[in-house]
Amino acid sequence: MNELPKFFVPGPTWVRPEILAEMTRPMIGHRTSEFRELFRGIQRNLTPLFDTAGDTFVITSSGTGVMQAALENCVARRVLVTVCGAFSERWFAIAQSLGYEVDRLEVEWGQAIDPEALRDHLEGRRVHYDAVTLTHNETSTGVTNDVETLARIVHEESPDSLVLVDAVSSLGGIPVHVDAWQLDVCLASVQKGLALPPGITVVAASPRAFDRAKKRPYRGVYFDFLAYKTKADEESVPSTPSIPHFYALAKQLDDIVSGEGLEARFERHRQMRDITIARTSRFARLAADREHASPTVSALAPVKPPDEIRSQMKARGFTLGGGYGKWKDSTFRIGHMGDIPIEALNAMLDALDEVAQA
Ligand code: PLP
Repeated sequence: MNELPKFFVPGPTWVRPEILAEMTRPMIGHRTSEFRELFRGIQRNLTPLFDTAGDTFVITSSGTGVMQAALENCVARRVLVTVCGAFSERWFAIAQSLGYEVDRLEVEWGQAIDPEALRDHLEGRRVHYDAVTLTHNETSTGVTNDVETLARIVHEESPDSLVLVDAVSSLGGIPVHVDAWQLDVCLASVQKGLALPPGITVVAASPRAFDRAKKRPYRGVYFDFLAYKTKADEESVPSTPSIPHFYALAKQLDDIVSGEGLEARFERHRQMRDITIARTSRFARLAADREHASPTVSALAPVKPPDEIRSQMKARGFTLGGGYGKWKDSTFRIGHMGDIPIEALNAMLDALDEVAQA
């Protein structure tokens, strides 16, 4: 049997050797029938992954680039950013850098965004928001937000505001229902729940998002959502993509959708969360609110210094994630996402049990 994976960083995550091998296939031109066939296969599987009958496309960029693109395509003036950690904060930094008027609705790190606080904020507002940003899974704290409820509240209280969702560390590990939840833009880079090497981002966008983009004359060229839509309709992309990633994505999506199956994959992630929390409780406090604890990543505040734990685990061959942002020194993170088998998680937790209590 092959050696079990020992890489537990919350993105990039461990990539199966057969997926890495896809990236070494010979080049094809991106204006060829072979590429169109590759693209078609990818789109066929993005439909169930995002659970949408609408448009999907792939952009050669990390997730941050597409967060910026979502704002540039969808926001003229003002945006509300919900903040519960470092990555939801990133929406705020990008929006500010683009010169938008930005409001924030914030909770303490470790908590999920409170739906009623969002309702109160939108009810009491005196301004119009072009969009509201949500972060489905906050990777810095290991918290999953209730995007279904939050999006519903935006639609009820502020029907003209678009809902822009970062699903970077949820897609492929936690259910996402773009149509049922009425998400206008939903994006995910692929190095987390989809377990691919970093470098591309998958996107689902609603007709409302495209209508808004049409009214944004200076939305740039590279990240123009309308160009991606036009080209996707022709089973193509606007500029030269990372073709090795397209090969890997096509195989990985086939394996996820037709091999393991989405429901089984989500269940494996829930089990990995529950096992991680149960097996670390003797020597570390779960830093996130348990009710919203993420199926893909756990931030843990151990009794022993986190850096010591990580370096001792490293000496045993296991790579764990460091704490992030203001939790850098007090926590470490375990990425239990992507293609990690449960037995690999358990083998790592056996070692962690010894290291953390020594
Ligand atoms: N959003 C979340 C929730 C993330 O975890 C990350 C990366 O860790 C990002 C956004 C940024 O994505 P990328 O590193 O692909 O730009």
